[in-house]
Amino acid sequence: MDTISVVVPCYNEQESLPLFYKAISRVRAQLVAAHPSTLLELVLVDDGSADATLAAMRDLAARAQADEGIQVRYYSFSRNFGKESALLCGLRNARGDYVAVMDADLQDPPELLCEMYDRLLAGEADCVAARRQSREGEPWLRSVCSRAFYRFMARISETEVVDGARDFRLMTRQMTDAVLSLTEYNRFSKGLFSWVGFKTEWLSYDNVERVAGTTSWSFWGLVRYAIEGVVDFSAAPLTAASQAGLVLCAIAVIATIVIFVRALAFGDPVPGWPSLACIITFIGGLELFFLGVIGKYLANTYLETKHRPAYIVRESNEAEAEGVRRAETAYGDDGDGDADPAGTEGGR
Ligand code: UDP
Ligand code: MG
Repeated sequence: MDTISVVVPCYNEQESLPLFYKAISRVRAQLVAAHPSTLLELVLVDDGSADATLAAMRDLAARAQADEGIQVRYYSFSRNFGKESALLCGLRNARGDYVAVMDADLQDPPELLCEMYDRLLAGEADCVAARRQSREGEPWLRSVCSRAFYRFMARISETEVVDGARDFRLMTRQMTDAVLSLTEYNRFSKGLFSWVGFKTEWLSYDNVERVAGTTSWSFWGLVRYAIEGVVDFSAAPLTAASQAGLVLCAIAVIATIVIFVRALAFGDPVPGWPSLACIITFIGGLELFFLGVIGKYLANTYLETKHRPAYIVRESNEAEAEGVRRAETAYGDDGDGDADPAGTEGGR
């Protein structure tokens, strides 16, 4: 029997939650029709809401006890920690074999879950993620800035962040564990989902407006989120200092040569200032260059302190190979009969 966990970060979603539950119940019915033994687990995270979101969650948990095949667990934060923290809490506490991430406001159409699940079961993919085709209904300026951000990210970062991608996705347990193995504090989930790799298939759909409530993202909130994304996944802004420094130094050297030649040929009408200007430019360039070098070391230290794993294995035959080896050496057993292959008994 497979369990699908649905992680839902909620901030002031008292009106959306009952609607969300209704929609997800319909999805469960669809899922069960296709795969009778599927269990759905909702992991609701109340991100320090100021309204009655927590009460709505308690309500849903009670209601779910009556509904068969659907379980609700909820976690409520002591204050608003932000969507990324709510996501992390939800992922950590999801117990399913497959884990979905979804917004509470029905902007991530829950019906897509069935198709995502079918695709995961059918194919080689580890993750099926949703992507908006259009940004209809979004303020014009926000749309333009978002697009610019994704183009910029694509150029400066090795981690791919797909334009229009939402956090909405269904992942295997393996990929979920990989995302959880990234222990960094500043989390930019869109980047993390991409960073862990694995095979992701994309499902496109048209933008949907939220059912109730208002978005909690202000324009400047989004700008801060974008800066977080850049700083977390690219050291390009630091490299820019080095490059600017090198360019300044080059200009200073050329200018010095020009002034020198001109002074030889025509004499020096205003003694002092051109050479001073050159020296200032040169030193300015040198300073910027070394600032960039220091920045590079700082960037590496910063990445180290994130303790990201150096790699993530998707598949290996280690377990089978190990099984064969153990069978071959079985006669060497210590005779006390307790098998402890993982060595979990150590340290007692
Ligand atoms: N959210 C959250 N904490 C926050 C802000 C938002 O948990 O501080 C949740 C919110 O309840 C919703 C999801 O994150 O389920 C997306 O938020 P929203 O709809 O405001 O963003 P948008 O869809 O406009 O990007
Ligand atoms: Mg929304």
